[in-house]
Amino acid sequence: MPLLEILEFPDPRLRTRAAPVTVFDAALSRLIDDMFETMYAAPGIGLAASQVDVHRRLLVMDVSNDRSEPLVFINPEVVAREEIGVMEEGCLSVPGIYDEVERAQRIRVRAQDRDGKVFERELDGIRAVCLQHEMDHLDGKLFVDYLSSLKRDRIRRKLEKERRDRPAAGRTPAGAALTR
Ligand code: ZN
Repeated sequence: MPLLEILEFPDPRLRTRAAPVTVFDAALSRLIDDMFETMYAAPGIGLAASQVDVHRRLLVMDVSNDRSEPLVFINPEVVAREEIGVMEEGCLSVPGIYDEVERAQRIRVRAQDRDGKVFERELDGIRAVCLQHEMDHLDGKLFVDYLSSLKRDRIRRKLEKERRDRPAAGRTPAGAALTR
């Protein structure tokens, strides 16, 4: 399975609003597997399809230390939220940058699994925060949008400079995974 290319801020494709997933087939299942592999290799604890340039409402996460808790959320909706708090966040699309964001620390989410079956699940702490972070990606939103524009501009310049100084990574575009 190939690793997918992860788009990085300020790539305008990260601003795309993702469309609902309507077809639950083998290609979707392969995409999910490739997203897990890409997330684990990065390494990261969450990855939205938007980050690999597939603009569908789908995300994967695993906040465990030993990759024992893979979770897939398709067409997710937060149906309840409580306990606003602050947690430090990072993002595979904003590499090396960490900052504090205020979000609900306890949520109830309704979503579909890879077979299209609807489920509801309660998440708290880092799982709740990670899910909201990934859901923002599906709406074209990044965690740096919660920071001041001064901070965001500084981050953008830093990442652009780092990218100029870095050789291109040998990754496969996400489209290749869908057309295999
Ligand atoms: Zn992210």
